[in-house]
Amino acid sequence: MLEWLFFLLPVAALSGWLMARRHYKQRYKPQNSGFSPEYFKGLNYLLNEQPDKAIDVFIGLLEVNSETVETHLALANLFRRRGETDRAIRIHQNLIARPTLSSQQRTQALVELGLDYMNAGVLDRAEHLFLELLHQSPVPSEAPKQLMRIYQQEKKWAQAIDMAKQVTADKKHPTHALIAQFYCELAEQIPEKEQQQAFSLLRSAYHHDPSCVRASLLEGKLLIKSGQYRKAIKILQQIEQQNHFYLSEALPLLQRCYENNGQLKQFRDWLQALLTRHPHLTSARLLLTKLIQKQEGNQAAQQFLQRQLYQHPSVEGLHQLIMLGEDNHQVLIPLIKEVTTALIHKGDRYTCKNCGFSGRTMHWHCPGCSQWASIRPIEIHLSALEKLLEPSR
Ligand SMILES: [Zn+2]
Repeated sequence: MLEWLFFLLPVAALSGWLMARRHYKQRYKPQNSGFSPEYFKGLNYLLNEQPDKAIDVFIGLLEVNSETVETHLALANLFRRRGETDRAIRIHQNLIARPTLSSQQRTQALVELGLDYMNAGVLDRAEHLFLELLHQSPVPSEAPKQLMRIYQQEKKWAQAIDMAKQVTADKKHPTHALIAQFYCELAEQIPEKEQQQAFSLLRSAYHHDPSCVRASLLEGKLLIKSGQYRKAIKILQQIEQQNHFYLSEALPLLQRCYENNGQLKQFRDWLQALLTRHPHLTSARLLLTKLIQKQEGNQAAQQFLQRQLYQHPSVEGLHQLIMLGEDNHQVLIPLIKEVTTALIHKGDRYTCKNCGFSGRTMHWHCPGCSQWASIRPIEIHLSALEKLLEPSR
């Protein structure tokens, strides 16, 4: 069967070529190679068995000209999609070596070769190639896009920003939020004594994405370090407007600011108002309970939390309520304490809304799906109990 196909290949190629020429003459417009679908199907069978031999035949058979370039590209793409990057590279390199290619076709083949390198993980070669392509006019859209990917992987944030600004963003893949994340990465690397530079990087982050929570958290931390608590409070509280799901990250920082300003009463009022606006914020509820305990004692805190838990049950709330109580039931209370401690210890605190990755530390760049700012804090509710009780996590 295989030999037959080999034998038929030149015949099929010739007839395909003739068909394409006839078609071209009739229509007076450029056509793809014009091979019949059957030919391609047969070819694919052949390729499945002995792809390297087939490439030799194919490269030798098909003259590279404006009519067959598309066929070469299609075949190479097929190999790349199947994960056979070496073969795709061979075909693309063969194409590029031909002097008959138009400059547009050459560019296309170079872009494809760059994508092969990306697939194969040879980033230095891909980088070199796409940098060359940046000098072309018009710049192929893949060039800045792939370079941005490379610089992200290599954590070269300044270059990543540079490339992201050249990527033509569409509604589905906006780049402004990415650029803000890259500025935050840069700001985090600035040594403490050069704070002014960090502030200006964060301003750039806001400029590209006014709702960048990460920039607010970083700015808040910087302001706290230099003792500017009032300013820090203003910055950190704006996270409620940016994305209230991240407020739990800001609460401990806010507490420090209000404490240092001697304004814990105002902090309590703010938390109370916050909870009426966002009743799902278990972290705010727990913090408020702690403040009440500090200022008015255990009983007041217990009463507050009890009322709250009826409306917004959560494991952590229950745990705090038990911890507030006295050990007056010798068997039951210690047991419940142990169970809630285990549950809270087991639960993940952060989860990716894109891929479901979850863990106990905050990542701004998801290790699961590589998206930026897709991971956010989760508030643990009783409804999540079943998941927490699963034996292997
Ligand atoms: Zn993810």
